[in-house]
Amino acid sequence: MAYIIDGKKISQEIKDELKVQAEALRSKGMVGALAVIQVGDDPASSVYVRNKKNACAYIGIESLSYELKSSTTQQELLDLIRKLNGDDCVKGILVQLPLPEHIDENAVIQAISPQKDVDGFHPENVGAMVIGQEGFLPCTPAGIIQLLKRSKIEIAGKHCVIIGRSNIVGKPMALLMLREHATVTVTHSKTRNLKEVCKEADILIAALGKPQFITADYVKEGAVVIDVGIHRDAQNKLCGDVKFDEVEPLVSAITPVPGGVGPMTIAMLMHNCVESIAGKE
Ligand code: NAD
Repeated sequence: MAYIIDGKKISQEIKDELKVQAEALRSKGMVGALAVIQVGDDPASSVYVRNKKNACAYIGIESLSYELKSSTTQQELLDLIRKLNGDDCVKGILVQLPLPEHIDENAVIQAISPQKDVDGFHPENVGAMVIGQEGFLPCTPAGIIQLLKRSKIEIAGKHCVIIGRSNIVGKPMALLMLREHATVTVTHSKTRNLKEVCKEADILIAALGKPQFITADYVKEGAVVIDVGIHRDAQNKLCGDVKFDEVEPLVSAITPVPGGVGPMTIAMLMHNCVESIAGKE
């Protein structure tokens, strides 16, 4: 039976550590708010935004909410970001993605001051990550590194296969695993022989966004499997990119969905906010 990597428990540990750190900073007069901007009222985005604000409240960081109409123009959004960039009370700025189609996501990400980019998406932070310098790390991949480390799973020297090459998960995941001295293979929708490549993995990270796509045929016996996907199945139950029931008996460790990677993303966002208040960025 596989070891079930408990993202709920590990994220709670991290949030409790951060609560103590935020309190220590507050006692030295170091405070600051996270500004959370949502454009439109996509229900999934509203859930994510609410969870992020709840996490701020738990840790003891102020959150400021900006709920903008879906008809908000790009210029209006950029103006708000510039105002928040210049506000010393605001230490983090988060724009919930995806944005409505008429707004250029890249322009918005680039408008956020790199010192307040707690999502770690600004090209300056991405560049710093590539060359191993200090900067905000993207929350989902940074959370996966924490899941592995806190579960005492060795990374150095292991062959890590990542399925997916998005800017927010796959690509930064590859860089962070390299930083931890894994041998990394990145696969994507044009990869040939995906099954064979995945079967080579000591650590398999599934971030392809296809419900229960990864079956037992993709997994080497004894591998560690990290499931980044979040979907609802036909019964409206949450599931991941991995067919958990089929894969779990084969592997040495696996993350469940829900309760695996998901809660870590918010914990690492809170980590970045505390770092920003501490002035570490
Ligand atoms: P995306 O759609 O931007 O990227 C998917 C990637 O998978 C692409 O690079 C594509 O080339 C690759 N891919 C698609 N089909 C493939 C196939 N058949 N074989 C091999 N590769 C294939 O998605 P994303 O934003 O990276 O998110 C991936 C999944 O992770 C989604 O389910 C998303 O909801 C979830 N997600 C979860 C969290 C979290 O906090 N747990 C955070 C971000 C994303």
